[in-house]
Amino acid sequence: MTSLTILGATGSVGSQALDLVARNPGRWQVAALTANSDAQGLATAARASGARFAAIADPAAYADLKAALAGSGIEAAAGQEAVCEAAQRPGDIVLTAIVGAAGLAPTLAAVERGATLAIANKETLVCAGPVVTAAALASGATLLPVDSEHNAIFQVFDHAQPDRVAKIILTCSGGPFRTRSRAELAGVSVADACKHPVWSMGAKISIDSATLMNKGLELIEAHHLFPVGLDRLDVIIHPQSVVHSMVEYIDGSVLAQLGTPDMRIPIAYAMAWPERIATPAARLDLAAIGRLEFEAPDLVRFPCLALAWEAMRAGGSAPCILNAANEIAVAAFIAGQVAFLDIDAIVAATLARVASGPVGSLGEVIETDRRARAEARAQITARA
Ligand code: NAD
Ligand code: MG
Repeated sequence: MTSLTILGATGSVGSQALDLVARNPGRWQVAALTANSDAQGLATAARASGARFAAIADPAAYADLKAALAGSGIEAAAGQEAVCEAAQRPGDIVLTAIVGAAGLAPTLAAVERGATLAIANKETLVCAGPVVTAAALASGATLLPVDSEHNAIFQVFDHAQPDRVAKIILTCSGGPFRTRSRAELAGVSVADACKHPVWSMGAKISIDSATLMNKGLELIEAHHLFPVGLDRLDVIIHPQSVVHSMVEYIDGSVLAQLGTPDMRIPIAYAMAWPERIATPAARLDLAAIGRLEFEAPDLVRFPCLALAWEAMRAGGSAPCILNAANEIAVAAFIAGQVAFLDIDAIVAATLARVASGPVGSLGEVIETDRRARAEARAQITARA
C-alpha cells in the first residue's frame, strides 16, 4: 500500500481525494490529514479513512479535535508546526490541498524530505517557485501537478525533449463573468462570483476564476513546473472546459488532454502515478457537447490576468507580492469590505508600492509576503 498524507483534507480538493481513497480500499494507507479550523470535519475524515495522525492549524480547535477523536487511537495535534509535522512524517505521497500561501511551509517540509508531492496548492509555487523547485532538485522530491491544466500538460509533455516544445497553451473557462462588460461587473456579489459555470470549488479559487487571477496564478505555476521559457506560455478561453490544456511542438503538432470537468480525474492521476486507475467521473460525450469554442482572453475587462503576466515577467518577488495582495483583496471581497472591481485595483496598487526583491529563501518569501499583505490592507482601509 502507498501511504498518503493530505494537507487541507476538509476542502474541495481534499474531500475529493478522500472520496478516491474510500473507493479504492487497499491502495492508500492514510498517514496524516490536516485542516485549518474545522475539528469535526477533520475528525470525521480521519475516522472514515483510518488516518493515523490528524493536525489542525488553529490551536483553539485542539480541544474539539481531541474530543472528536477520543477512543479512535488517532493521534491529534494543533498549530502550524503540527501541520508541518504531518508533512514531515514518513509517507510516500503528500497531496497539498491547502488554499493560499499558508501551504508554503508544510509543502516545503514535504519537499525537503524528498517526498512525492501531488500539488494542488498553486499559491505556494507562485510565491516561492524558485525555493520549492531548488529544494526538490536537492532532495529528489517529485512534483506532480493536480491543477487540471498542469495535470493535462504533464500528461502530454515530452519530458525527454522539453526543447521540442514550441508552446504551452493553458485553457481557461472564462469564469462566470466571461461575457459581462466592465460596467456590469461593478455591483456583482460574492454569490455571483462563486457561481462557476463548470467547476465546483472552494470560495477563494472560485473568486480567482471570476477575476481570471486564477489563470494568472496558473501561468506562473506552469512557468515553474515546465520551464520552457516565458515566451512559450499562452492562455486561451475555452468555455466548455473539456480541453484541459495543450502542448504545441516544433513540428506543429498540438497534443491535448480532454475529459469531463471532474477534479477526481487529475487528483487520481497524480495520486496513482505512474499508474492509471478507474475513477467515477462521467465519461466525455463529445457528440452531446456538440461544439468546443475558443477565444482570446480580454485583458482589459480582466486586468488580473495582465497583472499576473507582468509579475511573472518581472520575476523576483513580484509574483509573491501579486499573490499576497490578491489573497487579502479576495478575503476582503468575501467579507463584504470591498467591491469586485477593487480586487484588481488593490493588487495593482500593491505591486506598484511594494519593492520587489530576491526570493532565494523561505525567510525572504515570508518577509515579502508580510510586507505585501500589510500594503494591501492599507489599500483596503484607504478605500473604505
Ligand atoms: P478549500 O477552501 O475548499 O479548502 C482549503 C483547505 O485548506 C481546507 O482543508 C482548509 O481547512 C485548509 N486551510 C485553509 N487555510 C489554512 C491555513 N491557514 N492553514 C492550514 N490549512 C488551511 O480550497 P480548494 O478549492 O480545495 O483549493 C485548495 C487548493 O487547490 C488551492 O490552492 C486551489 O487553488 C487549488 N485547486 C483547487 C481546485 C478545486 O477544484 N477546488 C482545482 C485546482 C486547484
Ligand atoms: Mg486550474
